[in-house]
Amino acid sequence: MRVISEAASLPAWRGGIVVPTMGALHEGHASLIRRARAAAESAGGVTLPVVVTVFVNPTQFGDAADLARYPRTLEADTALCARAGADVVFAPGLEEVYPPGREVRVPRLPAVATEPGLEDAARPGHFAGVCQVVQRLFELTRPRAAVFGEKDWQQLQVVRAMAEQEGTGIEIVAAPTVREPDGLALSSRNRFLSAEERGRGLSLSRALREAGEYGAPTAAEGAMRRVLEGAGLRPDYAVVRDAASLLAPSAPGAGFSQVGERPLRALVAARVGSVRLIDNAPWPWRG
Ligand code: AMP
Repeated sequence: MRVISEAASLPAWRGGIVVPTMGALHEGHASLIRRARAAAESAGGVTLPVVVTVFVNPTQFGDAADLARYPRTLEADTALCARAGADVVFAPGLEEVYPPGREVRVPRLPAVATEPGLEDAARPGHFAGVCQVVQRLFELTRPRAAVFGEKDWQQLQVVRAMAEQEGTGIEIVAAPTVREPDGLALSSRNRFLSAEERGRGLSLSRALREAGEYGAPTAAEGAMRRVLEGAGLRPDYAVVRDAASLLAPSAPGAGFSQVGERPLRALVAARVGSVRLIDNAPWPWRG
């Protein structure tokens, strides 16, 4: 496995499967890389390169303190990438992604990046930064496909819509959320939770499971809120939405809105101590 930091070395690795990350890699990222490896091996007789990008993108952080303390663990990250089957890790400096004097375009944001009132409302500017860096990484790596985690469900929908809108032809592959045995979704930020906070953070996955016990979205939303508030959290949101548009199941833009006719998704977000946690699951969820 190679580790490169210069965009000029990338052309040799084009046409592959890319896994964009911000580093501080864990088993969730490893599962994405293994998914990419599997796709790379089954591409009609040829083996495609698997490229993992490690870049903490400043333009998607609204909070300077969050950016400053974001963990940077490149040595451990490259070891994990090698174990999971990557061919190359692209870990660029800021100037490779955002060359001085050259404006890196922000693609037109799809509706799912601005209308649901979920991460878009909680983190203004976040999806503009995500779309900017993803489209720039696509431009640099020119992949055939890219793997994203379901853990960041709205991001997955945003990237999928953006890739289509921009006519990239890049297939967006979704990989399921990897959890601790007790249900906590793995996240690079979990390391900042104290033992007590981690215990309260478990209420997010508990809320998603509890939501499945109710037959109507509004009842499920109430149940999720109760679980989260019972753990002393004030959720940013605890909702059941159309899985693709992320609009309310009854909203006109959600298309067929009747429960059972289109996939629905339960999504929760809450701050626990200094860490903001997000999670989601199909609704109802038997996880
Ligand atoms: P990040 O490094 O946090 O920006 O995440 C890079 C990619 O890993 C994104 O596509 C995330 O959705 C995905 N990811 C993060 N946590 C998990 C997890 N627990 N399970 C699966 N994928 C994940």
